[in-house]
Amino acid sequence: MNYELAIIGAGPAGYSATIYAVRAGIKTVLLEKGFGGGLAAISPNIENYPGFESISGIDLTEKMKAHVSKYSNDIHYNVEVKKIKKDKDIFIIEANTTSQLAELIAKKTGIMIPKQNRLLKYDVRPFTKSEVFRWIYRI
Ligand SMILES: Cc1cc2nc3c(=O)[nH]c(=O)nc-3n(C[C@H](O)[C@H](O)[C@H](O)COP(=O)(O)OP(=O)(O)OC[C@H]3O[C@@H](n4cnc5c(N)ncnc54)[C@H](O)[C@@H]3O)c2cc1C
Repeated sequence: MNYELAIIGAGPAGYSATIYAVRAGIKTVLLEKGFGGGLAAISPNIENYPGFESISGIDLTEKMKAHVSKYSNDIHYNVEVKKIKKDKDIFIIEANTTSQLAELIAKKTGIMIPKQNRLLKYDVRPFTKSEVFRWIYRI
């Protein structure tokens, strides 16, 4: 399957990036090794997230999940990215699944990896949430 952009990790940064990328008309896939929400989902209490003085991490990230799913059906949970290979301007992503998602090709715009991800030996680098926004608007 071919995409213009693959976002790895459905934490708050990955969800935000997906919403903005899809709204910008970029063919995007979001891959998440767990159930989504990232570190925020396992936090018992998130305080001072704008709009919420205090909310449990799982409640907040379920709202994020519902929000992003209005924009994209191409969000895949329980898919762990194992390897990223770069061939000229094409990235080939290999994951721990035997489905068609085992090999994805992200063309043109490349790959985003939220900062906690550790696939750094590949030709990609982690993005902070604010960089994600800057990066999307640059396209
Ligand atoms: C206990 C606790 C309390 C916190 N309290 C607050 C608070 O009150 N307010 C606040 O603003 N912040 C709080 N935070 C911080 C907040 O949770 C993080 O800043 C936020 O989750 C970072 O989001 P992220 O999307 O950048 O990364 P993450 O949340 O780390 O998400 C990264 C995602 O990538 C996925 N992933 C990693 N590797 C792969 C792979 N190879 N293939 C596929 N998927 C992969 C992970 O499963 C994860 O879902 C708290 C964090 C914790 C742990």
